[in-house]
Amino acid sequence: MKLAVASGKGGTGKTMVAANLAFTRAWANEPVTLVDCDVEEPNLHLFYPGPAITRDVTIPVPVIDTFRCQHCGACGKFCQYGALTVLPTRVLFFSELCHSCGGCVLVCPDNAISEEPKRIGTLSSASPLPCLTLITGTLDTGDPHAVPVIREAKKKADGSPVAIFDTAPGTSCTVIEALDGCDACILVTESTPFGLHDLKLAAKVAAQMGIPAGVVINRSDGNDELTHRFCAEQNLLPVLLTVPFDREIAAIQSRGDLLCRARPEWQKEFDTLFEQCRGLAREGP
Ligand code: SF4
Ligand code: SF4
Repeated sequence: MKLAVASGKGGTGKTMVAANLAFTRAWANEPVTLVDCDVEEPNLHLFYPGPAITRDVTIPVPVIDTFRCQHCGACGKFCQYGALTVLPTRVLFFSELCHSCGGCVLVCPDNAISEEPKRIGTLSSASPLPCLTLITGTLDTGDPHAVPVIREAKKKADGSPVAIFDTAPGTSCTVIEALDGCDACILVTESTPFGLHDLKLAAKVAAQMGIPAGVVINRSDGNDELTHRFCAEQNLLPVLLTVPFDREIAAIQSRGDLLCRARPEWQKEFDTLFEQCRGLAREGP
């Protein structure tokens, strides 16, 4: 099963939910791959520190052979992203705009364009627990190509019986990429008007992508009527778990520990949460 943990708003505790879900799977000896798809700010590794194997993530970008180029303009005309500008004496290439489609290589009549790899980030692989593989995608600072890093990170979970994807917050294209192909999705929210506002956006995205979703209310102050009402009004958007606002839980998290490890009574809650997600995945959209 491929399960995404998303949230319309940052700071709701999405990473905490993903980390604890993976912990309970590994504790039950069920192989699980936990993938940090929040590549601009990955932080799952804070819950699972330890050695990791890291490699570069690259994308192919064009290189112009200035001796062969006749400045015909075909590549600049073809590139819909504005990454190539053909001047009378040279071709300008803006790598941050390039989507690595390879089209310019094909349209060049003089075979003046080849491709070379450009580093955009890294991928780390670790095994912090016997049944748990942690994959961390990290985008290089300032690089705009988050989507290929997420794609590479997700690919590492292929073949895993359970893959849990911790997405970026919000509803941007990086979230869409992380959600793509998932069997179910958890939307994490909190007891604030902002939390509810952004939950509505995230729920709409999941519905439009045809991904069954359920809600976790984190740091609940007990005033969640509006959230419950919204979920009840939706077609199949159950509230799966409520985690209270609690000083001790906050302290556990702030020291980088896992709720299910520090307070084992929570394992049952997260086990149930996972089984509910299995149910959502089985039922489909
Ligand atoms: S298509 Fe080829 S020959 Fe024409 S401007 Fe581009 S690189 Fe030069
Ligand atoms: S590979 Fe595609 S996006 Fe990149 S410069 Fe060439 S045509 Fe443009």
